[in-house]
Amino acid sequence: MQASTPWYAPPIAHKPQTIAIIGAGLAGMSLAYALTQKNFKVLLIDQAATLPSGASRNQVALIKPQLSPDHNLPDQYITQAFLNFSDFIKDYPELILSQGILELAHSKKLQMRHQGIMEKRELNHLANYVNSEQASELAGIALSHAGLYFHNAFLLDVPAYYQTLQKLCGDHLQIIHAQKVKALTHQDEQWLLQADSSITADAVIFAHGYQGFEDYIDCNTLIPCPGQLSFIQPATSTPLKCTLTFEGYLTPALHGQHILGASFRHNEDTEIHAHDHEQNLEYLGKIAPDLKTILGTAPSHNWCAMRVTSTDHLPLLGGVPIKAIWLKDYERIKFGDFRARQYPNCTYYPNLYMSLAHGSKGVISSFYAGQILAHLIDNKTIITAPKVWQAIHPARFWLRALRSNDNGKN
Ligand SMILES: Cc1cc2nc3c(=O)[nH]c(=O)nc-3n(C[C@H](O)[C@H](O)[C@H](O)COP(=O)(O)OP(=O)(O)OC[C@H]3O[C@@H](n4cnc5c(N)ncnc54)[C@H](O)[C@@H]3O)c2cc1C
Repeated sequence: MQASTPWYAPPIAHKPQTIAIIGAGLAGMSLAYALTQKNFKVLLIDQAATLPSGASRNQVALIKPQLSPDHNLPDQYITQAFLNFSDFIKDYPELILSQGILELAHSKKLQMRHQGIMEKRELNHLANYVNSEQASELAGIALSHAGLYFHNAFLLDVPAYYQTLQKLCGDHLQIIHAQKVKALTHQDEQWLLQADSSITADAVIFAHGYQGFEDYIDCNTLIPCPGQLSFIQPATSTPLKCTLTFEGYLTPALHGQHILGASFRHNEDTEIHAHDHEQNLEYLGKIAPDLKTILGTAPSHNWCAMRVTSTDHLPLLGGVPIKAIWLKDYERIKFGDFRARQYPNCTYYPNLYMSLAHGSKGVISSFYAGQILAHLIDNKTIITAPKVWQAIHPARFWLRALRSNDNGKN
């Protein structure tokens, strides 16, 4: 049957037996978990000797939905991802380090956004509006800002979560450490991966974070934005009871340490910089000056890693479309011709997929991505709403470029 948006039609491929995943970060391990639950045999390959590596080496992650007044597409994707993840975590309460996140309305823009959310959405199961007095009560410190309190949001013990997923994969998972995949070719319905040893698989998924495989992935759509955190150990304990988010975030003390973060850089630099720490403290000072004084003089150590996002802050997820064929097949879109019947369905590399650009909500985004891809590979079904599928489809940027040639008429 002809799809109404053939340029986003899902891939059709024979069901693979062995699936190789390139990259054993949170994206790769979430995929491994979702696929082994469906009885696929998975090879998880990483260039690092110790796992997890990269951004997935983060110790503690904030897990919360991302709400918008008009229920926009990032909200639809991330909030569903949050609900899916909350369902999973119910069986592993020991992975939750602290419950409740208070998002303070630190700017006029965020205040308006919170107001819009409360007026237009029925969200009491996810968040409550709190005035500054109620916020102070929840946080255990004096605050002069109102905000949204996400009572079901939490802090996740990331290393323990990673180990839990790995354990749940059982013996359907084989991890290959310290091997960088340099290239891949397709022959006789199999992918051949060139690493230190040669690896074959029926299907391959890119979950390598950033850089590489430019023959297959349009790297212009991936945006590097490294971030730095401070782990701060004050001499005396602070009364902070829940995590605060503002221009940055601050966790309550976990084993005597607060985590203050996270900076956003717009380059590829993952060195530690004093400036990022000072900026994180400055943001804290705007909403809780007393805490800034206490934490500003306490010893800290820092951690910095590469986050990767996309220009629209949604992940790149699904089959890998063949760009040259895609551009040729749909070139008439630039003349405003959107008649679906005129076009063939999107052409993909056989059994080649990607799960990339999970950004600053990487834990829940990559977990949901694993579920979406596992369903797609297993029984060719898309478990998201069609609009969300289109919003995460890797070809969306090419469609936007063609549409802008159409002078935005469509
Ligand atoms: C400072 C900071 C704070 C964050 N805070 C949060 C938070 O509070 N909540 C949240 O949800 N998320 C947070 N994130 C984001 C989250 O950590 C990332 O989105 C997530 O870890 C990305 O996982 P990934 O698997 O896509 O990439 P990565 O973790 O980068 O993993 C990619 C893996 O691929 C491997 N690899 C790359 N190329 C190859 C190759 N050619 N061959 C073999 N292996 C390869 C790498 O060695 C690496 O292990 C934060 C990130 C940072 C930097």
